[in-house]
Amino acid sequence: MMTTTSSALGLQSHYDSLIDGRFQSAATAAFEAVNAATGEVLATISRGGAEDINAAVAAAKRAFPAWAATRHEERSRMLNRLADWVEANLDRLAAIDAADIGRPINQTPHDHITAVEQYRFFAGAILTHEGANHSVPGGWALTKREPIGVVGQIIPWNVPAIMVSFKIAPALAAGNTVVLKPDENASLSTLELCTALAKIFPAGVVNVVTGLGEEAGAALTAHPDVAKLAFTGSPSVGRMVALAGAERLVPVSLELGGKSPNIVFPDIENMDAVVADAAFAATYCNGQSCLAGTRLFVHDDLYTEFTGRLTRTFESMTVGSPSDPTTALGCLVSEAQGTRVLNYIDTGKAEANLLTGGGRRVVPGNEHGYFIEPTIFETDNNTRIAQEEIFGPVLSIIRWKDVDSMIEQANDIPYGLASGIYTSNLTNAMRTADRLQAGSVWVNQYVNLVAGSPFGGYKESGIGREFCADTLNMYSQMKSIVLAEEVPAPRV
Ligand code: NAD
Repeated sequence: MMTTTSSALGLQSHYDSLIDGRFQSAATAAFEAVNAATGEVLATISRGGAEDINAAVAAAKRAFPAWAATRHEERSRMLNRLADWVEANLDRLAAIDAADIGRPINQTPHDHITAVEQYRFFAGAILTHEGANHSVPGGWALTKREPIGVVGQIIPWNVPAIMVSFKIAPALAAGNTVVLKPDENASLSTLELCTALAKIFPAGVVNVVTGLGEEAGAALTAHPDVAKLAFTGSPSVGRMVALAGAERLVPVSLELGGKSPNIVFPDIENMDAVVADAAFAATYCNGQSCLAGTRLFVHDDLYTEFTGRLTRTFESMTVGSPSDPTTALGCLVSEAQGTRVLNYIDTGKAEANLLTGGGRRVVPGNEHGYFIEPTIFETDNNTRIAQEEIFGPVLSIIRWKDVDSMIEQANDIPYGLASGIYTSNLTNAMRTADRLQAGSVWVNQYVNLVAGSPFGGYKESGIGREFCADTLNMYSQMKSIVLAEEVPAPRV
């Protein structure tokens, strides 16, 4: 088992924000970063507010003209250097996240691998992000892509490294400058990344202001010099961010929640493999994932056998210390999140049939942590536990017979982020994929994120797409320049 104390992780005792290339903060207050499992205080972090946001936005505004004029090759080189740094520091960053958030140490390295893919993907994609030129009678028409300006970005705690890279890689590649606010529950690995950001990028190009949502976050969304907002988090805060954008008529991209359907057809060939994949889909990230496959539609023909095997798989999962490499499920990020999930479990016990789990576990030496047993409910699609995002290891299984009615139920949800299909029939897979209202459809492998494949939501799951070349369009605006060879004769 890895040690997870502050000193073993090489953490500083206190972190300030990164503003204008320097670690600084006007804040007089701080908040604590706490080991989610043991309760040990890992570090204190400046509780930035409007003053830090103002300084960061001013720095980003000053840095913008030179950064926007920087050659694409140069921006690309810097993003690749950042990727190199993450690769060189991956084990330590992953251990910091496991301690800070409570996620198993065998999962957090993948966050940073995905982040590296993002930095490298956008380092490449910007080199081919071109406008269009064409001849028109008597002249030429040019279409240019230009950066937007200072971008304000706010992210959640569940996968901080992925969230940071999803946000800053395309924004910086496209020539914008950035003010990012990490989540107060998971700022540490981002603050460590700041040491690399400060060395690689010119002062003011990327600023990271720590603090609470209603303080630093709200100040960022309301700032008059922020020209675009990008947010990942809960739908309720997403609405506030959208309204702040509407107030100033600036573009807003949103990545919000999910309650994704995962569909098992009766023609699957390897039931054990599907059971394992469906279990992973629901419990990956301790279930604290916007894309989790939390509504599992299982066909009547194999329902009893499949559900039995899935229940046994859930029961065999190791719930334990996040720093133990054999752990499948660590603890939830905070008491607030633990209480929320346990409340949903109580709701489920009242409205559905509990198949397994349904309680809190105490892990010796980690008594502070909210360890939740992996839980399965047998239910209909219209219960609260099937309709609302729980953000914990709680799966709803729904039995189906008729494909039309099943797809209607799969789509009968305010969200539309992701979905899964298990079938051995390719035509069936494609026809079903066409009918699902979701930004991502994964066939035969859930959470199959591929750099370059768009990620984002239908319906209330969001606006915009990340992870793909088109994201550069979200972080740039088009300019049309039309040149006439000569001034025409009078037109009236
Ligand atoms: P949250 O909305 O409470 O917090 C997210 C961020 O918003 C934090 O940085 C927080 O400080 C900030 N914030 C809070 N109040 C604010 C305000 N008034 N103004 C500005 N900023 C404010 O979300 P959470 O509970 O921390 O995260 C879980 C949610 O995030 C879930 O709904 C999940 O589905 C969603 N999520 C979505 C994606 C995606 O890509 N679609 C990815 C991860 C998480």
